[in-house]
Amino acid sequence: MSFSAAVITLFPELFPGPLGASVLGRGLAEGLWSLSATQLRDFASDRHRTVDDTPSGGGAGMVLKPDILAKAIDTVAPQGDPRPRILMSPRGRPLTQQRARELALGPGAVIVCGRFEGVDQRVIDGRALEEISIGDYVLAGGEVAAMVLLEAVVRLIPGVLGKAESHADESFENGLLEYPHYTRPQTFEGVDIPQVLTSGDHGKIVRWRQEQSMELTRRRRPDLLK
Ligand code: SAH
Repeated sequence: MSFSAAVITLFPELFPGPLGASVLGRGLAEGLWSLSATQLRDFASDRHRTVDDTPSGGGAGMVLKPDILAKAIDTVAPQGDPRPRILMSPRGRPLTQQRARELALGPGAVIVCGRFEGVDQRVIDGRALEEISIGDYVLAGGEVAAMVLLEAVVRLIPGVLGKAESHADESFENGLLEYPHYTRPQTFEGVDIPQVLTSGDHGKIVRWRQEQSMELTRRRRPDLLK
């Protein structure tokens, strides 16, 4: 069974969007993973198809109603569905390469995209939603965040990236930032490719790349070394 992503959103027409391009799009077409986008509004029962209401206790904005959202979740992922249920949320645990790797090995994900001020806390608790953030800034909605999460996950699904584009060396895979890359021409605007890379000495190249990785990480992201 391949990785199956189900997104619940007020803007299903945004999907697959960038997830339909390049290798991810090819993987989607070949059935290496699948994607559905469900319109939350379809679960509203009143004439105006209302999905939100004013925050209890006052304040600005609107809140997604728990009954509508719960009905959508229970329909998309009935009891027994093994997929983790995720809510994109700036209050969530920051997305990491490690979580992306775990998700890529699993059956898929059910992803709720918030809008307005967010969603009623009772549906977060009642449906045990795992809150995931893509960074310390606030977006207008969860759709782009869901795409970020899925893009990070889907490229790790076996077979989606070719051997030529493998990820063993990549940033975060070994807890470090990646070393710098070079390609021809040999001289660009007066700057040569570092000599070691054209030396043909494989051992030396590996050591140089490790040093560069270490140095970059120390300078830019010392938090990763802790
Ligand atoms: N009032 C909320 C922000 C709501 S933004 C707060 O202060 O925490 C509206 C929706 O956009 C959220 O429900 C969430 O689904 C999505 N969103 C915004 N920023 C995000 C982020 N950094 N990571 C993931 N999702 C985010």
